[in-house]
Amino acid sequence: MKQYEIKINLQEYQSVEDFTDEEQTVIKSALETKDKAYAKYSHFKVGAAVLLENGEIITGNNQENAAFPSGLCAERVALFYANAQFPDVPISLLVVAAGQNDVLTYEPATPCGACRQVMLETELRFDKPIKIIMVGQNKIFVLNSVKELLPLSFNPDLLSE
Ligand SMILES: [Zn+2]
Repeated sequence: MKQYEIKINLQEYQSVEDFTDEEQTVIKSALETKDKAYAKYSHFKVGAAVLLENGEIITGNNQENAAFPSGLCAERVALFYANAQFPDVPISLLVVAAGQNDVLTYEPATPCGACRQVMLETELRFDKPIKIIMVGQNKIFVLNSVKELLPLSFNPDLLSE
């Protein structure tokens, strides 16, 4: 038996001011779009903002539905919209923030498993790392690639060597 320990590289920041002006703009977009989420059932509002390499910022928020599986997370709303509108433009940054009743989560909200898989495929599709910023009340987590979020991810190329 072999045993492996898998490590990820996660950075923690204390303030939005620690980021570049452009990153702060994307963070602000994620915070603003969070409040527009349609979270009728969970009351947990999530905002995502992606920065494309061409400077375009695309936002998305969670869209819930009475038929629960029909809803979609903020991250995928933003990513799918970005990929639909700009199919040839890589994404360089994704910011996520979540909260309830206008109060940001204490700990940074992290993407669900399904979103991680979509984020990874978007990263692999363009072969360029997507930086991820997850914003909480008192701490901000940063990852420099989606690969950090999804070790041992589903690999459709398993049949090839
Ligand atoms: Zn999700």
